[in-house]
Amino acid sequence: MKLDLRSLLAEDIRSLPVEFLLPVPDDLLHDPHSPLFDVCFPEPIAVAGSIVNTAGYMRMSLSVSAPYTAHCARCLRPVSDRFSISVQKTVVPAGLLVHESEEDSDDYIIVHDGFLDPDEQILSAFEAEFPAKVLCRDECRGLCPQCGKDLNDGPCNCSDTFPDPRLAPLRELLRKMHDKDNPESGLS
Ligand SMILES: [Zn+2]
Ligand SMILES: [Zn+2]
Repeated sequence: MKLDLRSLLAEDIRSLPVEFLLPVPDDLLHDPHSPLFDVCFPEPIAVAGSIVNTAGYMRMSLSVSAPYTAHCARCLRPVSDRFSISVQKTVVPAGLLVHESEEDSDDYIIVHDGFLDPDEQILSAFEAEFPAKVLCRDECRGLCPQCGKDLNDGPCNCSDTFPDPRLAPLRELLRKMHDKDNPESGLS
C-alpha cells in the first residue's frame, strides 16, 4: 500500500490514519524455510494505526493482525487462532539518514518523494515474529514416535514393548535383586 505522506511532511496535518488490508504473498506460504510454510490465511492481514509527525520526528505505529489455521507441530491437530503484532518505525525522508548502516536498520522506514510503502517491512516483521512451531497448546504431549497414538488422549502401551535403552541397566539390576529375594522364581 502506497501511503501519501505529503500533507504530513508539509505539517498541514499532524497525524495520518493508516488502515488497509495486506494479503500474505504466496511465495511466503510455499517457502519451506519460512515459519508461514503450510499455514493458511483465510483473510488478508489487517493493518491499522497511524503516522504521527511531532516537530519533524515521524513515528509509525501499526497493529498487524490476521486469523490463520495450521496443524499442531506435535500432534497434528488443526489449530485456528489469530496472530497479532505491533510494528513501530521511525519514518525518515530519503537522504536524511547520514550513515548507510542507519538505512539498513529495522527501526527506520524511508519515505521516497513523499510516499511510503510499508508492505515489505510489515511482512518481514510478521514473518519474523510468527511462531516457528504452531502448537495446539503449550503442554501438548504430541504423538508417540513408536505407535503414533495421540498422547493427549492418554498413554499408549509402547513403554513395555520398547523400553528406554537408558533404563536397561536399572531393569537388569531390579531383575537380579528380584531373583535373589525369590530364588524359587528366578531363572533356571
Ligand atoms: Zn498438539
Ligand atoms: Zn506408543
